[in-house]
Formats: sequence, structure tokens, C-alpha cells
Amino acid sequence: MICRYRFCTIVLHSQLNGNRRYCSEECSYLERLEREKEKNQLRKNALSEINRIQALLRACHNRYGDSLFDVNVLREQRMNWTIISGTTQIEGHEYRVVGSFAYSVFQNGEIRIIKL
Ligand SMILES: [Zn+2]
Repeated sequence: MICRYRFCTIVLHSQLNGNRRYCSEECSYLERLEREKEKNQLRKNALSEINRIQALLRACHNRYGDSLFDVNVLREQRMNWTIISGTTQIEGHEYRVVGSFAYSVFQNGEIRIIKL
């Protein structure tokens, strides 16, 4: 087995090192830093995608207000339908909440965006 630090290639000898996963404390520490970096990057990517979708909903709401419009307008802007912070009921319809906006897609392929 080799040291688990991704940039280290030192071979661990199991007889000498027991169950050690790293060749040194330094490698253990550096690998932990790499994992932190990855986590921060993921968090940053997720945040910027949420911001993009909020900006998209805001732009559409500025243009269409509370009126129904073709859902393809959002599709063409690469709407990310997986981003959702909750749901709410408005006039008997379930709306999906993203930040300060909520939207609902109706069966005829139209969407309504409401500012909360
Ligand atoms: Zn190492």
C-alpha cells in the first residue's frame, strides 16, 4: 500500500507501519488540506449555480411579471431544475421556491414566477 496523500508515492510497509495510512504526519495533514480545498470548491460551485438560477428567475420575473410564459424561455437559458430551497402552495398550486422567487410549471408548458 502506498501513502494515502495523493501527491506522495512512498510505499508503506505493513510490518513496520501497522495500519498507518500515511507515511508521515505531514502527509496526513496535507491530504486533509486537499480534502478541505475540494469541499470549499464544491461549495463555491454550488453557490454560484444557485446565484445563476436566482438571477435567471429574477430576469424572467422582471420581463414577464406574474404572467404565464413559455417554459422553454427558461430551458434555453439552461435552467437547473434541481435547485430548490423549498415548496409553497399558492392558489392551490405547488410552487418551488428558489431564494426570493417561486415558480410553478403548468401542464400546458407555461410557467409562472412569483416574487415572494
Ligand atoms: Zn506520504
